Amino acid sequence: LVKAIATQVGSALIQAEAYANLEDLNQQLEALDRTRSNLIAITGHELRTPLSTIQVCLESLASEPDMPLELQQVMLSTALADSERMRKLVQDFLTLSNLESGRVEWHPESLTIEECVELAISRFRTRSKTEKQPKIKSKIAPNLPLIRADGDWLVEVLAKIVDNACKFTPPQGQITIKATRNSDRMVEVTVADTGRGIEPNRLEVVFDRFYQEEGALRRTTGGTGLGLAICRQIVNGWGGEIWADSRGKDKGSEFHFTIPIVSQKSEELGMGHGA
Ligand code: ADP
Repeated sequence: LVKAIATQVGSALIQAEAYANLEDLNQQLEALDRTRSNLIAITGHELRTPLSTIQVCLESLASEPDMPLELQQVMLSTALADSERMRKLVQDFLTLSNLESGRVEWHPESLTIEECVELAISRFRTRSKTEKQPKIKSKIAPNLPLIRADGDWLVEVLAKIVDNACKFTPPQGQITIKATRNSDRMVEVTVADTGRGIEPNRLEVVFDRFYQEEGALRRTTGGTGLGLAICRQIVNGWGGEIWADSRGKDKGSEFHFTIPIVSQKSEELGMGHGA
């Protein structure tokens, strides 16, 4: 009898656990559904704003054939700027959702941090010929070990952070990319600027999707508010961490992220380059 009762209690417990798991799963599905609806609503709103501007500009151009030439130029460049904003938004949105759902191919390689920093900086060298921007310099600690990451994504992360630093730092300011050994497993990269800085209570929310400080600034800086969310997904993808630091308003910001060092094991297995 005792044995029979024990068996019954056992199966009742298993059933209760199954129900609890099902309940858990249901809650997770509901949370996912809420996130999805939120995202669609926010993206819809973010797309509607530039689309309305484009429509107003084109309608004015179509309905006022005698509009002065200068005003026509203003209308056309406003419509062009907003269509570019929409293109960037769709592109960043797709990149982020591919990263979040694991639909991205990773090609980890053994790299030197110098070559990645150089590649990222070279993008801004071309730009500095046409635009005034802060000086960018690099300070890489000597004898850093090889790192293991997807080179293209790594350059993308660096470029996004440096691009932000350029946007929020006056042209006479300075951006410094540093790399040091963080631990026996990681190298740490820091991008420090001398720009407007970030309030301490905003250091974490800057990584949220679509977070941007006040709307007026958004217009002048032209970003999508998705850059840092994309960076976090990429860095977490190779097992690193990313965080922001600031000494306060107008005192500059620092963005840090870590990249794993090539382990001796992967070297021994011949997974060094391009594996
Ligand atoms: P955006 O496309 O707006 O640059 P991000 O996700 O890259 O989107 O950044 C989100 C927000 O974080 C920015 O709009 C800005 O308010 C803040 N931010 C990012 N980098 C810096 C920086 N270097 N200095 C000050 N604020 C920054």
